[in-house]
Amino acid sequence: MAIHKGMMAKAEEFVRREHKMLIDGHWVTAASSDRIDVVNPANGKVFTSLSSGDKGDVDRAVDAATKALKSDKWGKITPIERSKLLWKVADIIDKNADELAEIESLDNGKPYKFARMNDVSAVAESFRYYAGWCTKICGKTMKLSRPGPHHAYTIAEPVGVVGLIIPWNFPLMMAGWKFAPALAAGCTCIMKPSEETSLSVLRLAELMIEAGLPKGVINIVTGYGATVGKAMTEHKGIKKIAFTGSTRVGKEIVNSALGNLKKVSLELGGKSPVIIMPDAKMETAVPGAAMGIFFNSGQVCAAGSRLYVHKKVYEQVVEGICKMATQLKVGPGYKEDTILGPLVSATQHKRVSDYVRSGIAEGAVIATGGGHIGDEGYFYQPTVITNINENMKIVKEEIFGPVLAVNIFDDIDEALRMANDSDYGLTAKVWTDNLSTAHYLVNNLDVGSVSVNGGGPPDNNMPFGGYKQSGWGQELGEEGLRLFLNQKSVEMTL
Ligand code: NAP
Ligand code: MG
Repeated sequence: MAIHKGMMAKAEEFVRREHKMLIDGHWVTAASSDRIDVVNPANGKVFTSLSSGDKGDVDRAVDAATKALKSDKWGKITPIERSKLLWKVADIIDKNADELAEIESLDNGKPYKFARMNDVSAVAESFRYYAGWCTKICGKTMKLSRPGPHHAYTIAEPVGVVGLIIPWNFPLMMAGWKFAPALAAGCTCIMKPSEETSLSVLRLAELMIEAGLPKGVINIVTGYGATVGKAMTEHKGIKKIAFTGSTRVGKEIVNSALGNLKKVSLELGGKSPVIIMPDAKMETAVPGAAMGIFFNSGQVCAAGSRLYVHKKVYEQVVEGICKMATQLKVGPGYKEDTILGPLVSATQHKRVSDYVRSGIAEGAVIATGGGHIGDEGYFYQPTVITNINENMKIVKEEIFGPVLAVNIFDDIDEALRMANDSDYGLTAKVWTDNLSTAHYLVNNLDVGSVSVNGGGPPDNNMPFGGYKQSGWGQELGEEGLRLFLNQKSVEMTL
């Protein structure tokens, strides 16, 4: 039986295959014969399965990546050759964009049209952006404050074998954000996608091999975080972990990395504040705040999940967002009119429902939504919650669903105090027409990224990363490349 009406034959053929793992250029089964069911979040049905890797598989992948690191076909090629390979990966992604988007939409639940337009294009562009960096990696020369002739300089060198661990909300895009700079730097990689959404990454890896990446340069080990992820973070042969996921797991990774003190960069959770000032343009602020939380069904690390509205415009804003929430079409990702897909899994659906229930128990009021939709799958209504106080769990903790908590403020410093009263510090959004207000808020918000009056998706040229417990280090831009480079200082007496 077809997975859904109109599914592209090529995508269906891929998802129904026996999925293996990529180690040393070969597609292999895991050492254990265990499989992990893959579920369609739009109907809750299992449609395929993954290899469940373990420590032995990680060991094999690390051996392969270690061999590849200094190999003639990778370690010794020139920067321009590396650049051409990455550019070729981008071209092959573009050529297979429809199929990749179908796989992503089916596995994660997100609307096909957004997967196609945003996620798949973004991953190709990450490879192009970092293809440009391969030929621009350089050290510096410097004059030292000591007598006598000398020559002092720095060399940028790849960190070595790196472990890349990614979540399920933007699997392809996260894979691109990690693979592209790691490869541009000359590293070799072991990637573990989330077991909820590994399919698009497996297909991406096939395409990367087709583009000509030599064996062992990229390896994919599928499986659970507690086994594969943990084995990677503890592995002595892995010199760096780049992780995107929850703050809780980020802290576990820091602990596991202590053994060989491997470098760790962390893109973690958020509870991002949105501030709407009374002078903001309501025609953009209201839909902006609504889509800032509801896009991708709220499963976005940068989702604007705490909204602070000035009392003069509070009612207008809440009414506008609630109206939009009821109009957004929720449905399976393959339907053309779908704006919001299901949540990724039964676990995530329960987590979101439990948070909303806890808000009600603590005295909050549901302005709209607050419930499950449909007879099958993990659909949840876009939800707006008012009458909150700042100590409620729904205000303090990351829900990672389409749930907005709204509060009111009298003056800008009250808004700032509430916005900054969080363990997280990933992003913030500000809506105002007053330039001084905009600068005042930007300068005083304790977060890694601020957008004023709306913004686009993350740009490859703009670093992205969190303050406080939202992470360590920044990805994208030159900063994202530097995460994968060591700097050697050299001093010569002449
Ligand atoms: P998660 O539970 O932290 O898992 C992320 C990845 O880590 C998964 O591949 C997971 O594998 C693996 N993992 C779990 N336990 C591990 C361990 N002990 N050692 C090593 N790896 C381990 O996060 P998620 O639920 O997939 O994704 C949602 C979270 O990601 C949210 O908190 C969100 O804010 C964050 N996120 C942040 C950004 C950013 O750029 N800041 C972007 C996207 C998402 P399993 O799935 O098998 O457990
Ligand atoms: Mg799935």
